[in-house]
Amino acid sequence: MSTAPTTDPQPLTHGHCLCGAVTYRLTGELRPVMYCHCEQCRRTSGHYVAATACRPEQLTIAGEDNLTWYRSSGSAQRGFCRQCGSNLFWKPAHGRYWSIWAGSIDRPTGLRAAQHIYVHMKSDYYDIDDGLPQFSEDYETFFDKALE
Ligand SMILES: [Zn+2]
Ligand SMILES: [Zn+2]
Repeated sequence: MSTAPTTDPQPLTHGHCLCGAVTYRLTGELRPVMYCHCEQCRRTSGHYVAATACRPEQLTIAGEDNLTWYRSSGSAQRGFCRQCGSNLFWKPAHGRYWSIWAGSIDRPTGLRAAQHIYVHMKSDYYDIDDGLPQFSEDYETFFDKALE
C-alpha cells in the first residue's frame, strides 16, 4: 500500500462488464453520480443511467479489444462490451473526462448520487422523488467547475 497523499482520494476502484471480457481500474477522486434521463441514455439502457466520471488518466482498461464504440451523437461515443452488450463508458469528443456507468463498478463504490439531469426528457412511467436537485440541461459538473 502506498502512503496517503495530501488529499483524500477514494480507494482504488474496479469494475467490469457482465461477462468480464472488459475490466477496468479507477484511481483517485471520482465525480458524484449523476442520473441522466436523456433520450439516448433511456434507449440504450432501457431506463435511465447512473454514471460517475473521471479524467482519462484515472482509468485503465483491460480487454479493450472487446470494447465497441458507438457514436451516439456528434459530440460523444458510447462504449459497450461486444460480447455481452454491457454499457460501460460515455466518452465526449472534448476528452476532458469519461463517464462510467456506476452499476458496472464493484461494491463498495464509495460513491453517492448527487443530481438528476435532462429530466425534461425522462419517460412517463416513474417519478423522481429522492429529493436530489433536478436539471434540464443547465447543470454544472464536478469537472466543469474544476476546469473553469
Ligand atoms: Zn462483457
Ligand atoms: Zn444521458
